Amino acid sequence: MRRAIFFCVWTALAAGAVPTPESVLGHKPGDDFYLATYDDSVGYFKKLAASSNRIKLVSVGKTTQGRDWEIAFISSPENLAQLDRFKDMSRRLALARGIDDAQAHAMAREIKPIVHIDGGLHATEVANAQHTIQLGYDLVASEEPEYKSIRENLIVELWFSINPDGQNMVANWYRQNVGTAYEVSPLPSLWQEYVGHDNNRDGYMLNMIESRVITKATLDTEPLVFYTHHQSAPFPGRIYVPPFADPISGNMHPLMLRWLNLIGTTIAQYLDQHGMAGSMHQETFDVWYPGYIDNIGNFRHTISFFTETALYRYATPHFYTVNEFPQSRQGLESEMLYASPWKGGWWRLADACRYMYGASMAVLDLSAKYHEQMQYNKYRAARETIEKFEKEPPYAYIIPREQHDAPTAALLMEKLMLHGIEVRQSSNAWVILMDQPFAGLVKELFEPQKYPQLDQRPYDVTGWTLPYQMDIEVHAVTTPPTQEFRKGLELITSTKGLAAPFNRNANASFRAVNQILAAGGTVGFTGDDISVSDIAKSKVEAILAENRLKTVAVKEAGKAVKPARAGLYRSWQASADEGWTRWIFEQFDFPFTNLYNADIQAGRLRDKYDVIVLTDSTSRSILEGHQPGTVPERYAGGIGQKGADELRDFVNDGGTLVTFNNASLFAIEQFTLPVTNAVAGLNQTQFFCSGCLLKVHIEDAKNALTAGLSADPIVMFERGPAFETKTEFKGSVLARYPKERSPLESGYLAGADRLQGKAAALDVNYGKGHVILLGFRPQWRGQSHGAYKFFFNAMYLR
Ligand SMILES: [Zn+2]
Repeated sequence: MRRAIFFCVWTALAAGAVPTPESVLGHKPGDDFYLATYDDSVGYFKKLAASSNRIKLVSVGKTTQGRDWEIAFISSPENLAQLDRFKDMSRRLALARGIDDAQAHAMAREIKPIVHIDGGLHATEVANAQHTIQLGYDLVASEEPEYKSIRENLIVELWFSINPDGQNMVANWYRQNVGTAYEVSPLPSLWQEYVGHDNNRDGYMLNMIESRVITKATLDTEPLVFYTHHQSAPFPGRIYVPPFADPISGNMHPLMLRWLNLIGTTIAQYLDQHGMAGSMHQETFDVWYPGYIDNIGNFRHTISFFTETALYRYATPHFYTVNEFPQSRQGLESEMLYASPWKGGWWRLADACRYMYGASMAVLDLSAKYHEQMQYNKYRAARETIEKFEKEPPYAYIIPREQHDAPTAALLMEKLMLHGIEVRQSSNAWVILMDQPFAGLVKELFEPQKYPQLDQRPYDVTGWTLPYQMDIEVHAVTTPPTQEFRKGLELITSTKGLAAPFNRNANASFRAVNQILAAGGTVGFTGDDISVSDIAKSKVEAILAENRLKTVAVKEAGKAVKPARAGLYRSWQASADEGWTRWIFEQFDFPFTNLYNADIQAGRLRDKYDVIVLTDSTSRSILEGHQPGTVPERYAGGIGQKGADELRDFVNDGGTLVTFNNASLFAIEQFTLPVTNAVAGLNQTQFFCSGCLLKVHIEDAKNALTAGLSADPIVMFERGPAFETKTEFKGSVLARYPKERSPLESGYLAGADRLQGKAAALDVNYGKGHVILLGFRPQWRGQSHGAYKFFFNAMYLR
């Protein structure tokens, strides 16, 4: 009895000393017109951690912009003292190896499992990272039974934000504009240095630093649940939660889907119970595409999902009337999957934070109650995945080390290892044995996607098969591997030792060429061959080794090439496609300059540049940009007619304009090129492709622009054009879709016949220069390595 009294006094004292968010920030998170930056948030959590032994801050690394990145573990002091031990148990259960059913049950009973909740990565969806502040405080300080039970049964892995750079950018932008005419104006830059919204499209490829940090930390803790908050609810719903819309990948363990659905309906029930109406399910968002960082974990048996809470703009409140609702929902009728329709009224940041807080609490409450079953199921899903691929093909994948582009194949192996996939090596190949816990992920990334016939249009791309996109030879093994074969394999943790021929087949050769040129060497191209002179042999060898290349004898010293003076157009309507291109240029050491509207309008472009690249964009966006009055004046407008004229002069004077995907239509229209778009004006039943992989054939293999490309590369086609040339066309058809059959290799394509025989890539002679039209996404999300050469080759003077 006495002990109990002492305990109560002690906790009351401890709680009293714990600072509230408003005592540190001067605002309650969610206040109208106020946004905490990431720095504010971390500053608060440091004070919170200094005042309580129920929270432990851990550094997980740095962000793209070099910011220190911290997360919190919140639980009882007793549980936190055993964090390393529980993490270790969690990892062992996740792999399921050497643990029988009885042991798994015993471990699931004993462990205090980890649940990941985060403050989102889409930085303009501002409530995400505001709600984690209050949630963190209450999880640490509250003495209510619900919170106590969470601390007793779970360890909460709380990420204040999974895009710290973006949170700072958006909060600072809003602070600058709040109270002005531009209070709700869009940010004129990407809120992740390179990829903006596509930071949630990098879940399997892990190109961005943030994706890698999150994945590494997640493999370290192996959480039961990975929950990311977003703010794009289908209107007038207030929050979109699982069950998600179909289709769904067949490579996820069914238990993941069962828990997703249970969690989603639990959130809706919890919110209704707490007076928050308007939860909506199974609308708009499917999870067919595995690139979402908040979905990919399902393939590693962490129940991973997102919710979408309603958003107006930033921290500005808004009043909605029922008249603004879609006609079908103005009657405010209950639906099976929208049981408590929202009735309109004010919607404030505080409301979004409240819904998110409730949703997070619902997930924690459920996990605290069912943690033992959830933990056992995580083990069970891993074990059954191993057993499945012991009995059915593919039993393994073999990736020869001798390849058209072997360093890119090595890169793919490294990506898999970052996901905890076991990669082995034989004398001449890399081997992935599929009887391993995360094998579903390998199959998901390696097999061609067959999109089911559905009424609903796909939300994102429908095909992504990495060996196709990266032009890598992979063989699926359809008979069980022998013990002898297995014995000859060595488990590896890196792809060291690869030295592929230094020629234009390897993308890495372009990086090496750029490094040799930068070091003052001379480089010559003859077809796919590369010759080097005027530079120390040791220097060349060092550069090649670093790029996993080796010198090969060439017949002749080719014509010396110079790096083009390159400009990359950068709009104030920030474009992830531009960002990805910028990132790839940096990764491959291409020198370039960003060109803003004013730079293009300033003219004399030919004096300064040899090549200008326009990434995927509509003509309207390039010409008009942001409408005046919607953004601070310096960000309004596009390049305008003046800019278009300057670009035309640039090509007339001998420059090369390279256009990606729909930016090609800008060039066709503005320069009146003798080219038409064969899929213009078709409706969605006649032709539709939201992203699939198509085969093209290289028509002009002698052209310097196609050097190094495979004879039949696969490209990412996404809502783009297909070209037909008119009689007066002068130039070259670089690549064409096959005439006799559908070009589809992976994903969903309606109206394939519309593409058959049409040109996919053109080199159009114009004045003294060239316009290179690429009717696809040659650098798609940093994945389509097999198509990079379509623009890499244009980056040298010819
Ligand atoms: Zn989002």
